[in-house]
Amino acid sequence: MRIGIVGGGIIGLAVARELLRRHPDSELTVFEKERTLGHHQTGRNSGVVHAGLYYTPGSLKARLCRRGVGLLHAYCRERGIRYEACGKVVVARDEAELTRLRGIHERATANGVPDVELVGADELERIEPHASGIAALHSPHTAIVDFGAVARSLSGDVQDLGGAVRTGSEVTAIETRGGGAADIVLRHGQERRRVDQLVLAGGLHSDRLAEQIGDSPEPRIVPFRGEYHRLVPAREHLVRGLIYPVPDPGTPFLGVHLTRTVGRGVLVGPNAVLALGREGYRRTDLVGRDVRETLAWPGLWRLARRHWRVGAREVLTSASRQAFATQARQYVPALRARDLMPGPAGVRAQAVARDGSLVDDFWLSSRDGVLCVRNAPSPAATSALAIAEEILDRTALS
Ligand SMILES: Cc1cc2nc3c(=O)[nH]c(=O)nc-3n(C[C@H](O)[C@H](O)[C@H](O)COP(=O)(O)OP(=O)(O)OC[C@H]3O[C@@H](n4cnc5c(N)ncnc54)[C@H](O)[C@@H]3O)c2cc1C
Repeated sequence: MRIGIVGGGIIGLAVARELLRRHPDSELTVFEKERTLGHHQTGRNSGVVHAGLYYTPGSLKARLCRRGVGLLHAYCRERGIRYEACGKVVVARDEAELTRLRGIHERATANGVPDVELVGADELERIEPHASGIAALHSPHTAIVDFGAVARSLSGDVQDLGGAVRTGSEVTAIETRGGGAADIVLRHGQERRRVDQLVLAGGLHSDRLAEQIGDSPEPRIVPFRGEYHRLVPAREHLVRGLIYPVPDPGTPFLGVHLTRTVGRGVLVGPNAVLALGREGYRRTDLVGRDVRETLAWPGLWRLARRHWRVGAREVLTSASRQAFATQARQYVPALRARDLMPGPAGVRAQAVARDGSLVDDFWLSSRDGVLCVRNAPSPAATSALAIAEEILDRTALS
């Protein structure tokens, strides 16, 4: 069987590895348009192995995150990839947040997250001496990892199992033939490849790839850039692990938080601002087609109308280091604007529905037997090995 996978991010590579484990005789190729693997979301995120605190019990996110953590932890141990269970606190600043935090505690318990507990201000101070709040939810096993390193290791596995990983190979057209078979066209010299099965894991381009196989263009991917600052090394002691706000169900993104990383110091962020390109990592990156498509999507305007206040706040954090520090200081009062230096940025591939709602759960679809990962936002990196299992369990490829 000839299998093609489009996308050399953590999902495409995890699916490729799982496929080869189940079908060792197949002829599998991963096509990645960039020269390096994990160039987009996989290599530009917070690096948090989420424990599964927030997700609606029974959702794909809840189930695959929990399974994914176990698989990822075991995989990192086996491959000697650094995996640090530094722990996370979700900090409540007032009674209203504490009420919501109790709800999250219930969800975490329902999702089977081990050892989470609500702690008071004194215990919070013991866990994170510079954090401030009236209470916190402590998840001691929430961990950090370098997802780019995981993706590179998965790519090594794929090749060891006899698969090919072709970087610099953009798939520019797909003609489906039914039953999962397809002709795919690659950019270089208009090379054509016939495959018997195809999996699309194109991240920021997932809706466009889905359209190419005749799937609905909706929901559309709206790119939201997440900008980070980094704590200057002399102030990294302000954060031991992960310090998070209590999510506000009325706002689409979490807000600035503080994240220790594997080898990249302590990140502060990310915020969430509309990107002017699907791969628009800098404020000045502008791609005409991307802007036109984003602005033409009614879902964006409905989202903007509903959340313009939050949107304005996020734009402010993008323009001003002071505003960024002010947000972070709500959780770590000792933090000053001068403690921050510019950090990296990532762009979230967030599917937005026509009615302006963010598609919350993972979305895996299939048309004519071609499998497509339509929406895989956080915690999809954490869940990648479980998403791979799920995709194969659901289809004829299993
Ligand atoms: C700012 C930010 C913070 C995040 N933090 C976390 C976190 O802490 N923990 C967590 O679990 N998740 C986190 N996430 C989410 C996580 O990074 C993603 O869910 C995950 O990386 C998705 O992987 P992917 O393989 O689907 O996408 P990607 O890594 O984006 O890979 C898709 C690949 O497909 C390629 N591609 C697209 N079109 C084509 C084509 N036509 N031909 C060939 N190749 C193509 C792209 O070049 C790309 O390499 C975060 C994301 C962001 C943006």
